[in-house]
Amino acid sequence: ETIGENLERTAARFPDREALVDLASGRRWSYAQFDAAVDEVALGLIEAGIGKGDRVGIWAPNCAEWVLTQYATAKIGAILVNVNPAYRTHELGYVIAQSEMRLIVSAVRHRTSDYRAMLAEVGFGQSEQSPRAQQLVFIGEPGWDALVAAGRAADPARLRERAATLGFDDPINIQYTSGTTGFPKGATLSHHNILNNGYFVGEGVGYTEADRVCLPVPLYHCFGMVMGCLAATSHGACMVLPAPAFDPEATLAAVQSERCTSLYGVPTMFIAELDHARFGEFDLSSLRTGIMAGSPCPVEVMKRVADKMHMSEVAICYGMTETSPVSTMTRRDDSLERRTETVGRVMPHLEVEIVAPETGLPVRRGEPGELCTRGYSVMLGYWDQPDRTAEAVDAARWMHTGDLATMDAQGYVNIVGRIKDLVIRGGENVYPREIEEFLYQHPDIADVQVIGVPDEKYGEELMAWIIMRPDAEPLTADQVREYCRGRLAHYKIPRYVHLVDHFPMTVTGKIRKVEMREQALDLLD
Ligand code: ATP
Ligand code: MG
Repeated sequence: ETIGENLERTAARFPDREALVDLASGRRWSYAQFDAAVDEVALGLIEAGIGKGDRVGIWAPNCAEWVLTQYATAKIGAILVNVNPAYRTHELGYVIAQSEMRLIVSAVRHRTSDYRAMLAEVGFGQSEQSPRAQQLVFIGEPGWDALVAAGRAADPARLRERAATLGFDDPINIQYTSGTTGFPKGATLSHHNILNNGYFVGEGVGYTEADRVCLPVPLYHCFGMVMGCLAATSHGACMVLPAPAFDPEATLAAVQSERCTSLYGVPTMFIAELDHARFGEFDLSSLRTGIMAGSPCPVEVMKRVADKMHMSEVAICYGMTETSPVSTMTRRDDSLERRTETVGRVMPHLEVEIVAPETGLPVRRGEPGELCTRGYSVMLGYWDQPDRTAEAVDAARWMHTGDLATMDAQGYVNIVGRIKDLVIRGGENVYPREIEEFLYQHPDIADVQVIGVPDEKYGEELMAWIIMRPDAEPLTADQVREYCRGRLAHYKIPRYVHLVDHFPMTVTGKIRKVEMREQALDLLD
């Protein structure tokens, strides 16, 4: 089944149920209306000359047009290229050229970013020889309206003809990875990859047509577009967009006013909501479930979410862009402990194996190794980078994730960190994650990240970056170490402590330890 066929099936089953709510603009679509609106955009793109396999970029914060473009490109077999809203000309120019985009749907501007000016600066759409080779469509401007109007006037048979040429293994999406560890890579994904993953994520949290899913997470990332949109539309649930970009208050207000049953976020988003000054004023009693994912999910934060936000069934998902994204998740019938302390078990129809990075052989249960996964979810490859694809996906189609994990006898997986973040201090392997989890238990600490910094004597030393709770007295390095003494092995106690207001982050809310390590070098100078 293609994504278009799946959407049509949902629209036929639940024509009158709400499909999409865009609170920033106050617009709403039922499934019948949504599917019809997608067809107009799809036909508009066909009229604009977009063929099967052509790359169509989308560069906009969360909005209804983003979702319409997502499904419209899938319906015509074009390859949607998600462009991170935080990109500037350097990255923008790179992804336009790397994926050879033919058309870009863009917002005119977002917050302080002038997208129109940046697109002009990189010269998109200004090629003189072939004006139709690069087209720019601005949302909220005549460009978008003209695209929709052309689609409305077009012969619907053209869409049916196109649909007949599509296969579920065709590439339909290039998602650049978050760039947490370096320059983003263009994971190329098929209908089969992401539709299945969205469907099984939805099944994992038990979605039905009665669910209303609040999506403060970015749509350009797989968290929003696959675990959010595809999970919802494959089960007839409603997608609720609280705001163009993450805003804790708008998110809480959306849950209340839309009676959402599910709420998504990376850990830092949930922390911002829980610690928001007006948190107590919002009625969150409609919530049942939700997903925390994207980076290590601290046990304490999971417990607060389950407890204070009525999300007793909240799930953790683990995955990466290259695997559509989810490889493991916790289920509703897992104990609270399992649901807070592990990333759950392997998803249906996938394989997960933990191997020793040096030998490539499976480790004994309980021992740490690199998590590898295989099955329908593994990407087709990195766009136009066969060498990098071969480094990540081996000949037997195992995806090597670069994440260190353990698996217990029952199959529950724990992510202990990224191989690149592992700290080796005086010959001892230290997993920053373990120390972060420990420090989260300190009542005055709101958020904490631990990194390794170079050290002459030990090779590496540990540095903790700490965000204090709003009313707490700042902790000194000695106080932090005192708290650890007797509870953590001496080599795990951070030598340095650095108090901050925030961590360097990607726009998806992922902490960039690479940048923290760079800044740490200056701090130590
Ligand atoms: P890049 O590959 O460009 O450096 P990235 O790896 O952050 O960026 P994504 O594909 O968005 O890009 O993120 C996948 C990574 O996020 C995983 O490899 C893993 O390290 C981390 N991750 C995702 N979910 C979890 C989780 N539940 N617990 C711990 N880590 C997680
Ligand atoms: Mg990665």
